[in-house]
Amino acid sequence: MAGRINAEDVATVKERSSIEDIVREHVTLRPAGIGTLKGLCPFHDEKTPSFNVRPSLGTYHCFGCGEGGDVISFVQKTEHLTFTETIERLAGKLGMELRYEDGGPRGRDDVGTGRRQRLLDAHRVAEEFYGAVLADMSRVDARAGRAFLRERGFNGASAAQFGVGFAPRGGDELARHLRAKGFTEDELTLAGLCARGSRGLYDKFRGRLLWPIRDITGSTAGFGARRIFDDDRMPAKYLNTAETPIYKKSQVLYGLDLAKKAIASEREAVIVEGYTDVMAAHLSGVNGAVATCGTAFGVDHIKILRRILRDEADRAPARVVFTFDGDAAGQAAAMKAFKEDQRWASQSYVAVAPGGQDPCELRQSGGDLAVRGLVADAVPMFEFAVRTTIGRFDLDTAEGRVLAIRAAAPIIGGIRDRALRPEYTRLVAGWVGVEVEQVAAEVRRAGRAEGRSPTAAAASSGTAAPLGSAIPSSTGTGPPPSAGFPDPEPGSIEPSAEELAATLPRPDLRDPVVQAERQLLQTLLQFPDAADPAWLTAVTPGDFTAPAHQAVYAAVAGAGVPAGRSTAAWHAAVAEGAAAAVHPVLTELAVAPLPVVLDPLTGRPGERYLVSLFTRVREGTLTRQIADAMSQLRRLETAAEPDPERSRALGLRLQQLHLEVAALRDRGDR
Ligand SMILES: [Zn+2]
Repeated sequence: MAGRINAEDVATVKERSSIEDIVREHVTLRPAGIGTLKGLCPFHDEKTPSFNVRPSLGTYHCFGCGEGGDVISFVQKTEHLTFTETIERLAGKLGMELRYEDGGPRGRDDVGTGRRQRLLDAHRVAEEFYGAVLADMSRVDARAGRAFLRERGFNGASAAQFGVGFAPRGGDELARHLRAKGFTEDELTLAGLCARGSRGLYDKFRGRLLWPIRDITGSTAGFGARRIFDDDRMPAKYLNTAETPIYKKSQVLYGLDLAKKAIASEREAVIVEGYTDVMAAHLSGVNGAVATCGTAFGVDHIKILRRILRDEADRAPARVVFTFDGDAAGQAAAMKAFKEDQRWASQSYVAVAPGGQDPCELRQSGGDLAVRGLVADAVPMFEFAVRTTIGRFDLDTAEGRVLAIRAAAPIIGGIRDRALRPEYTRLVAGWVGVEVEQVAAEVRRAGRAEGRSPTAAAASSGTAAPLGSAIPSSTGTGPPPSAGFPDPEPGSIEPSAEELAATLPRPDLRDPVVQAERQLLQTLLQFPDAADPAWLTAVTPGDFTAPAHQAVYAAVAGAGVPAGRSTAAWHAAVAEGAAAAVHPVLTELAVAPLPVVLDPLTGRPGERYLVSLFTRVREGTLTRQIADAMSQLRRLETAAEPDPERSRALGLRLQQLHLEVAALRDRGDR
């Protein structure tokens, strides 16, 4: 056991350490009355600041959770250090040499006392060593590292600014260097810098380009290492320091030490995907850029950023911009963080560079302005989520639009802030090209469905946002959600062949148009000589919406009118013109009773009935075509660039379609 720190020294450390400066490393403070500063509490999750610091008294207190104390307890609690480690750390900042009571200088092999500071010291020395190797022009192995940086537009000055270094290929150069500086084997293995092998200590990182990963206070606590050589025995493109007592990957953001000032003052954080992207962003003037280190962006990262952003309920929301390249995994990660936290979601933005370039590539192809433009042009995460969702559907068909609205509705319904919903409903209506009320109805429906689902309790408990279900895990590739398709009513049509179910979807008989189709086919099959041949040519299989009905009608129209044939012979001709999968439907329609009263004299339905069915089926097509044209027209109106020629053409087409409808009705009335 190493010695206790001299009590006088402890008092001096406490006296000389500014609580204001130390707290500011974690929390953004602003004046709140005489002698008091306020910020978001680092010990509990809050949106209105109740964390108070009184620099003159050297104390802090949170009115929200009751945490309070002095500078020592603050560092102990926020950095998870022992008392001794805390004093050593603060003394290190002040440049003070500590005296130890019993046992002289601290025992180097004791992992308890001062362990953290020793591990940080080892990293500082390692960073200097790696940086010197990279800058050493006489070193052949570092040449590849310098070339890597140069190819990405970084010179020696930018490498030095970010502390980039190079791990020699040798095997134990760092281990020997650190041992010579007095670090023990235990310290070096515990720090994750070296490991023990059969021939002694060897370097963890070999022949790789290294970025020092610093904690929020600027102390290096780990490294990110990029593969450079093809014969690297580790296949991973990036290796990061494993979890150590001082390095927790879920709680570090690369570049945060450099970015925190800009994040606090501009109230904007930019999440990029890699070390070179952070460098490129900062060098381009996007100073609030950070990246996660070998892990997905998560809830802990949100907490860290929120404190710096001063993300308080009574202020305009801060902005968090995610830059995505073509990597679907990165998008999925951001989406996940997005659904964890509603307030976070409403202030999250997404920037996708043209051609899927990352900020580093963008800086090389388009310069600093292009990188700044990428961040400035970011769209709200909600918009990104909805547009990604509706982008999976064919908006030129009525069915595609309905499915798109159904898929997007839960996202809008998931917005906690109800005041925002009408605005998003209106936007989605514009993007899909439908009436606002149609979207609003789906949003209400999604809300009711949510209320019935077993997960509703979890969703409304405040922890899980209900939007999760609707967030795509990747863009554009997934199949449309099957939840959007209505199930047919049980017992309406029982397919008698297994293959039918596999090849033809069951017609949805809740749809009145599908009902009309069915009745028309029933009438044609059961009373073949009732049909007017002119109608059989005016109505085409394409006028039917249900695929099974299309197939049946094609067979009926193909067989023509019976003209002397017996009903049985005609039926045989119809069946011959239909695929095997259609036969069960044919049989069913030929015998299912019609929902109308038959004429007692003729024993068949009245003529008007058949004409009205033909009219309705044909009119259905015209109505859909009108809706398609209207939708295209609406989307043109909300598009960034007007297209007057196309608008005019669509207007003419609409006129023509309305004339056709009028003519059809006229014909049906005769
Ligand atoms: Zn608190």
